[in-house]
Amino acid sequence: MTDETAAPAEKHVFQADVARLLHLMVHSIYSERDIFLRELISNAADACEKLRYEANTTPALIEDGEAFSIKVALDPENNTLSVIDNGVGMNRDELNSALGTIANSGTRAFLEKMKAAENSPNAAELIGQFGIGFYSSFMVADRVVVDTRRAGEDQAWRWISDGKGDYEVSPLALEEAPARGSRVTLHLNEESREYLQAYKIERLISEHSSAVATPIDLVEKPG
Ligand code: ADP
Ligand code: MG
Repeated sequence: MTDETAAPAEKHVFQADVARLLHLMVHSIYSERDIFLRELISNAADACEKLRYEANTTPALIEDGEAFSIKVALDPENNTLSVIDNGVGMNRDELNSALGTIANSGTRAFLEKMKAAENSPNAAELIGQFGIGFYSSFMVADRVVVDTRRAGEDQAWRWISDGKGDYEVSPLALEEAPARGSRVTLHLNEESREYLQAYKIERLISEHSSAVATPIDLVEKPG
């Protein structure tokens, strides 16, 4: 195996539709920004489900015996909120395709619908439906960092973006990465510090994520 940890960060420009979408979200459905947490938790749960499924044919992927879990970690000192899962994780190619493009062929239709729904409650619904939930992070964060390691692979990666037009992917030392799965860290913007309050997060989890099968824990510091 080559040591990729020393390799430089690769810079990528978002697919044009992603850039348009980010702009639209931040400017048109800002009042609905609570939904970011529901979207990140739903991705964490999907990642656990995906690994559970893959482990049916490749049991070695979960031989560490760790139960599937989702943690929401608040760090008021650093103004960060992290959603951590021990699901399937992403390798470099998956990071680039999942968090750099909009795979959904209905993107254009979505953007049109979204414009029509501007500032209506429908806009928030549309986000979940069209598979672009991750990008809602940028309504509350001015920087998002995804540290991730795909189950069964021995290289971890860091994706980082300010949501303005490009993102960077670089190799991550294993000590800094989850053993398997992803840690999505939001550096909350100035208007979104309310999401550092445990009672607020507890309320959002019980209101919007109560149907999630994987256990969700709220912790005070990322771990
Ligand atoms: P959707 O969940 O509908 O596909 P999202 O914008 O929420 O759309 O997420 C885009 C993609 O990013 C997901 O399909 C998945 O491939 C990847 N992804 C996001 N978060 C995670 C995570 N925590 N673990 C693994 N993959 C993730
Ligand atoms: Mg999603």
